[in-house]
Amino acid sequence: MSILAIAELKDGNLKKISKELASAGRKLGGPVNIVLFNGNDNHANELFSAGAETVIKVDGKEYSPEAWANMISQLAKEKGAKVILIPHSIEGKDYAGRVAIQLGANLIADVVSIQGDSNSVQVKKPIYSGKAYANIKVSAPVVITIRPNSQEVLENYQSPKNIETASPSEGTVKSKITNKQQAEAGKVQLTEASIIVSGGRGIKGPENWPILQELADTLGAALGASRAAVDAGWIDHSHQVGQTGKTVSPNLYIACGISGAIQHLAGMGSSKIIVAINKDPDANIFKVATYGVVDDLFKVVPAMTQEIKKLYS
Ligand SMILES: Cc1cc2nc3c(=O)[nH]c(=O)nc-3n(C[C@H](O)[C@H](O)[C@H](O)COP(=O)(O)OP(=O)(O)OC[C@H]3O[C@@H](n4cnc5c(N)ncnc54)[C@H](O)[C@@H]3O)c2cc1C
Repeated sequence: MSILAIAELKDGNLKKISKELASAGRKLGGPVNIVLFNGNDNHANELFSAGAETVIKVDGKEYSPEAWANMISQLAKEKGAKVILIPHSIEGKDYAGRVAIQLGANLIADVVSIQGDSNSVQVKKPIYSGKAYANIKVSAPVVITIRPNSQEVLENYQSPKNIETASPSEGTVKSKITNKQQAEAGKVQLTEASIIVSGGRGIKGPENWPILQELADTLGAALGASRAAVDAGWIDHSHQVGQTGKTVSPNLYIACGISGAIQHLAGMGSSKIIVAINKDPDANIFKVATYGVVDDLFKVVPAMTQEIKKLYS
């Protein structure tokens, strides 16, 4: 079943989700074509190693959801693609629906697991704010957005390595992004991070972020937060994890002083390992935690940081 996936770059680097899509497409059997907007041969090589066979380079195009959708639909038709894989990112969520409409395809968003054969695709996706998972069987053509960090990345896949260049038409574009403002979002990008240290109301105030930041820096982790911490004005909304914040799926999520409200779990429940530090043994977060520490975070977090520093020294 021919696959078309879309790669994403951030600050000139290929986002990990791009490689996840290449590997997910390979799992479906391929052939895997990946559209690379404004990328270079190094990015293409990373995609080949992860499972792509053909990288379609499209250069000189500014991001616009309408133009992206028009170009992707055109390339999907040219490649006869039956499955279109798109990152479940801010941009991906923006143009995926438009692509599905243009192709007359089904659309399934925020998928965490995918498999299929030549006729249909089976996916798993969280529903009811992550309280349950739905297993869905869908016939092609289908547009699927995939949650970052949910797929294993193949290494050293030996592919034919075809690089094509294309200049698809941007079509009719009725709106234009005139300005973008970068929000303060910490040193490591939250949605791409493989480790996240997150703080909630239990950290008591903004003056205590350095305690969590030191642990995050030691682990090379991103800093996350609950909505209570964000609403209190202790940290910028760009750090918020949950239903009205970011959806994350890291290998390790360390929740410090977070009760585990359903809306928070909606954003981090698919993390591979969850460590919860909370002084209330009945806190809801312990229901999803892989490991739990019932104690004062102001004792536990600095001790953890010191022990981890010893491991790395
Ligand atoms: C429509 C809607 C959308 C929402 N979206 C989101 C969202 O996107 N993200 C989100 O997070 N929330 C969201 N919420 C809010 C959510 O319901 C909770 O109110 C919020 O997650 C609580 O944040 P918290 O766990 O930090 O605070 P609390 O619930 O107050 O929990 C604080 C925890 O810290 C522990 N604690 C206190 N002191 C210490 C200490 N010294 N050491 C260790 N533990 C300590 C306490 O035992 C407690 O469990 C949403 C709510 C609604 C209605």
